[in-house]
Order: sequence, then C-alpha cells, then structure tokens
Amino acid sequence: MVFHLDKCIGCHTCSIACKNIWTDRKGAEYMWWNNVETKPGTGYPNKWENQEIYKGGWEKNKKSVSLKGTGKSKGLGNIFHNPYLPKIDDYYEPFTYRYANLTNSPEGDDQPTARPVSQITGKNMDIKMGPNWDDDLSGSHDFAQQDINLESLSQAEKEAMFQLEQMAFFYLPRICNHCLNPACVAACPSGAIYKRGEDGIVLINQEKCRAWRMCVTACPYKKAYFNWNTGKSEKCILCYPRLEAGHAPACMHSCVGRIRYLGVILYDADKIEEVAGSSEANLIDRQKEMLLDPFDEEVIKQARKNGIADSTIEAAQKSPVYKWVKEWNMALPLHAEYRTLPMLFYVPPLLPVMASLSNQDNQQQEKIHEKGKQWNVEWIYDTSTDDLWSSIRQVRFPVKYLASLFGAGDERKITQIIEKLMAVRIYRRWKTVGDITETKADKTLEKAGLTRELADNIYRLTTLAPFEERFVIPPAHREEAVEMMKDTGVHKGSVGFKI
Ligand code: SF4
Ligand code: SF4
Repeated sequence: MVFHLDKCIGCHTCSIACKNIWTDRKGAEYMWWNNVETKPGTGYPNKWENQEIYKGGWEKNKKSVSLKGTGKSKGLGNIFHNPYLPKIDDYYEPFTYRYANLTNSPEGDDQPTARPVSQITGKNMDIKMGPNWDDDLSGSHDFAQQDINLESLSQAEKEAMFQLEQMAFFYLPRICNHCLNPACVAACPSGAIYKRGEDGIVLINQEKCRAWRMCVTACPYKKAYFNWNTGKSEKCILCYPRLEAGHAPACMHSCVGRIRYLGVILYDADKIEEVAGSSEANLIDRQKEMLLDPFDEEVIKQARKNGIADSTIEAAQKSPVYKWVKEWNMALPLHAEYRTLPMLFYVPPLLPVMASLSNQDNQQQEKIHEKGKQWNVEWIYDTSTDDLWSSIRQVRFPVKYLASLFGAGDERKITQIIEKLMAVRIYRRWKTVGDITETKADKTLEKAGLTRELADNIYRLTTLAPFEERFVIPPAHREEAVEMMKDTGVHKGSVGFKI
C-alpha cells in the first residue's frame, strides 16, 4: 500500500468505516485498526513510537536481528509477566453516553443530560482521553511537544516550530503494515499469527491464540490489540473477505482524500533476514532492492515457476504501489529502523501552507526567512518564483522531523521526494496558470530528476487516477497459495511470494 500524505484531510472516514465493520463489538471498543494521527503528536496508543517504553520491533545483533522486548526465547522464560504492554489509559477507556436519559427521563425541573459511561465497567466516568484527543494539535503542550521525533531537533528548532504563527501539522493515517518481517508473527509463542502466502496479509488465528499478548509488545506500531472480552488478540485483516471478492478494503474504499493505493508487489523472500539485519543507513534502500521488477523476464519466469498466475504478474506490472515506491522513488516506509520491513509506504507531505504565505507582509516574510535559516532547511529551490514558491522552504516542517518518521534519520531521502513533489507542482503551474516560464519549469524538473512524461504520470496518479488505477489486484487465487506451499518449500507461517 501507499498513502499519499498531502492528500489526507484528516476526516477520519477511514477509521469509522473500519470500526463499523470490524471493531464495533464487546472487547474491541478501544481498538482502532485504522487510526489517523495528527503529527507532531504522540499518537495512539500514547507515545507508541517510544520503544524505550514498549520495546517493540527488532534490534540488530551480530548475526542478524532479534526481537527487542519479547519473543519465543526471551518471552518464554518470562511468559507470565510482560511489563511492556500498553495499559488501557495509554489507549483510552472507551466510553459512550447514556443517550436514553435524554428521551426517557421523567418530567422534572432539570434538563436531562447524557452522562458518559465506561464501555468496560458500565459505570459513570469522567473522560480524560480519547483516540484523537490531540487532533489538529489540540493540547499541543501535552501531546505534540512530547513527540519523540522532535528529539533530533535543537531547542531553538523546537521553539520555532511551536510558535503560534509557525505551527503546522499533517495527518498520519495508520493501519497494520502487513510487514515482510513481522515482529508479531515471530513473537507469538502459540504460532497463532501467520502471513498468508498468496497475498502477504498478516492474520491471527483466533482458535490458536492463547492470550500471551507477545504480539502486542512486539509490534512496534502497536497494531495488534487484545480483546478483553474474548481473550484473543486481534488486528487489521486488510479486509481480506472483501479483497477475495475483488473489493477494496473498507478504509481505502471510503477514503475521501483518495490518498490510498493498493497493488501487487513481487519480492525476493530469500533476502528478508539479510535485509532486516542491514545497517540503519541502508535499510530503506535494501528493502526497496528486494522489490522485484515485474517486467524483468527472469522475474516473470521464476514467478511462473513458483505457481504465480499470469493475472497476478499483470497486476504487479500495473501496480500503483510499484510506481510510487520503486519506479519514482517517492514513497518511504514509516520507521524503517524498527526492521519489520513494512509494506505500507508513505509519500511524505509537502505541506506548503501557501495560502497563508501569500497573505503575509514583508516583515513577516523576513521573520520567517530568518527562522528558515535557523532551521537549516535550505534545501533550495532556486528555480522557483520569489513571490510564491521560494517561501515554502521557510515555513514547512524541519526536514529532520520528517526524516525521523520516514527516512530512518536520512534527510536526503526526504528532500529528494520533496523536490520531486515541488517540481511537479511548478511544472503544472506553468501548464495551467502560466505565471512560471517554460524554461523554469523544465529546469526544475531536471533538477529533481524528472522528465515531462514522468511529471505527467505522477500528476495523473496523484490527482486524476480513477479507482481502477489506484486499486489494482488480481482475482483471488487460492490455488496459488496451495501451489507455493507445495512446490517451493515456503512453509506455514512463512512469508509472501517466494521468487
Ligand atoms: S505492523 Fe502489522 S504485521 Fe507489522 S508487526 Fe505490527 S501487527 Fe505485525
Ligand atoms: S478517509 Fe482518507 S482523507 Fe480521510 S482521514 Fe482517512 S486517509 Fe485521510
């Protein structure tokens, strides 16, 4: 999957679509398999990115990687005590209101009220927290300023970012990443979690789950949840019953901003362990190397040999995900340093805040310019027009912050993408508004490593592409899964398409 963050409007429709279908039941009230966070912010559950607290994901060791907090060997010796679980208050105590009071109260002197009531205890409660308590930077002091990604920024940079007139934010929709190296799978002592051979969806077998909750600790994204009513763990199933019938997952189907892309990726499963254990600086590049070119004759030959249907190979050739991630190099995994090799990639936000800029007077612009220098975000767009484009670099987020989220700390990974996003905008501005010269537009494209044809394709997939171009999956092939298990030695609980 790819989520294009500039397009997310933070409407939470995706979260509601998911909740109505999958987690609107007893024991699952607090679960949001799809949630949308405001960044900067501490997210849901609170501070999920802080692995000092939760010990999620993998860490590099001499040979390869081992689970940070728990696992079959580490966890078994300590199986009845798992100190690294989020508590209900880290999520929030789910609540509803006594709506019936509004209509059923007997006549009296006072206006009836709908008091909040806990969905766990059934008792009246005071609401102290919710799944989007810090939406749109509300309570910035308690939430946004505690964001662990700000740690790489200097005090001055942080202060500049939180000055009221400078404040900006973006939305980060999150679901399970259906990772290639899923920590949840590795941590489960019961072998209840597995990654489906035919499409890579990570699932929890409810019959086999024994409530050890090691997956909750191990998933660094905190996308495995414990159902307190059934005593089983649960997680996003990527709406597999819908996918098998050719329908998009509910979150994607309902996405108002059309930010989501879903497609087939062929990958080299033999490299997973080696890639997961590569140095932090190389993690993202190595992960991308694993994704195979679906037009390469050798890849096609091997795929067929492994029982992958032609319709799946064709879908891989048309995959919008392959374009964003591999061909255009414009989408990155979230927190690659957790080493789970996530298969959900994000196009980072450009966040131009252009409208407010064009209204600013000179003095204000000057002030912002000074701040820009201070933030050291001079990754320069000399070719842009002074009155509109040049100011963008001064008001957007420090690249360091985005690099902490999407670049495993490598700022260049972000600036390369931002340059491409900007170049496409400038090119389109020349084409549609005309206040930028053709030479300038071409020069900008060249500087970002793009051609006009590429810019047109990026523009099309960003803005015009109909649903069939954003959601490209083949019909379900259960027989593929069976074939792969039989012929290639990919065993139960193993990973994805083996080429
Ligand atoms: S994001 Fe999903 S697949 Fe990856 S570790 Fe977490 S629960 Fe497992
Ligand atoms: S529905 Fe789409 S646009 Fe709305 S919050 Fe979800 S991802 Fe963003």
